[in-house]
Amino acid sequence: MEIEYADRLKKLPPYLFEEIDKSKQRAKASGRPIIDLGVGDPDRPTPEFIIRKLHEASLDPQAHRYAMNKGLRVLRQAMAGWYKGRFNVDLDPDTEVLPLLGSKEGIAHVPLAFINPGDVVLVPNPGYPPYNSGAIFAGAEVVMMPLLKENGFLPDLDAIDPDVAERCKLIHINYPNNPTGAVCDEEFYRKVVAFAKKYDIIVCADAAYTEISFDGFLPMSFLEVEGARDVGIEFHSLSKTFNMTGWRVGIAVGNFEAIAGLAKVKSNIDSGIFTPVQIASIEAIKRSGEVKKQVVELYRERRDVLINGLNEAGWKIPSPKAAFYVWAPVFGGYDSTALAKAMLDEADIVVTPGNGFGEFGEGYVRMALTVDVKELKEAVKRVKKKFFS
Ligand SMILES: *Cc1c(COP(=O)(O)O)cnc(C)c1O
Repeated sequence: MEIEYADRLKKLPPYLFEEIDKSKQRAKASGRPIIDLGVGDPDRPTPEFIIRKLHEASLDPQAHRYAMNKGLRVLRQAMAGWYKGRFNVDLDPDTEVLPLLGSKEGIAHVPLAFINPGDVVLVPNPGYPPYNSGAIFAGAEVVMMPLLKENGFLPDLDAIDPDVAERCKLIHINYPNNPTGAVCDEEFYRKVVAFAKKYDIIVCADAAYTEISFDGFLPMSFLEVEGARDVGIEFHSLSKTFNMTGWRVGIAVGNFEAIAGLAKVKSNIDSGIFTPVQIASIEAIKRSGEVKKQVVELYRERRDVLINGLNEAGWKIPSPKAAFYVWAPVFGGYDSTALAKAMLDEADIVVTPGNGFGEFGEGYVRMALTVDVKELKEAVKRVKKKFFS
């Protein structure tokens, strides 16, 4: 039998990391001393007190059954309490908070609740891939919003064709931003609210990195802005703040009708988060202050080592105020793919070519601060020797 894939799979953009993945595997297999700055996945373990809570909770046989789809009420309360304490945003834990199997899951599924075939979804480019693929799966027409250096890597809402805006049902935004490391201010969020109100667009704000910021900068929640709750929801995640990427715990908060739509989709697809994971997550959220301090200091030190080292070597890269990525402009006539290949072939360093996040990421490579300081120093040494001496 011939297996034929559905059009929605054929419409996904080509996977641009294939070649670099293969070269990376080959290099590792041949024993080369690879430094992998490619993956945006924290290298440090989940804090022990969270693991202990998981262990304890998992000993209860009642905790092994199907979880409640909307999550334990105590978890939703903890999530709402955290939003109140951190952002001064009041949320009703019963209608405005929805636990997710990681924020990626919610981001990918949210268009299924609101998009009919042909509706426009606005997606930042470069950007986190599920904005695009989730929209494609729902049959949307995806329109890219370029994130350009001259606009501080913010989408230019004034540049969006009014006809496109009229047909648009949903817009994704993401600050602090992956992959550019850019941050936004309240002014930008106000513009997004006004734009969304004018054209009746649901805003999906991805706030996965609000807890990782430096130099006294404190990222805000989209929901802090007046009117945001009328138009949007925000996605958050325990993945990055607590080194819990493998656990799959995310949060959707905001407009109750939008939350209800997403909840309805999810109730037909998944059966909630494993109860002991929910209980351990409550513990994590309760002690977020102390965890956050350590995590931030870890990435700040790594950021400074890499940025200062590379700048001194001759590779001029701006220092990000938040998240754990360095968005580095290419040099020496390389394009994104060629530089990533050269860094791997000549310096045994894995970076992600910026165009893998969309065509407007061309001209950059992304380096994740998910390796220790010793390796970062070694990476700087190799870059200097191979490319700048
Ligand atoms: C890592 C990341 C997330 C978090 O994903 P989870 O599914 O919660 O692990 C969300 N958005 C962006 C942009 C990310 O980089």
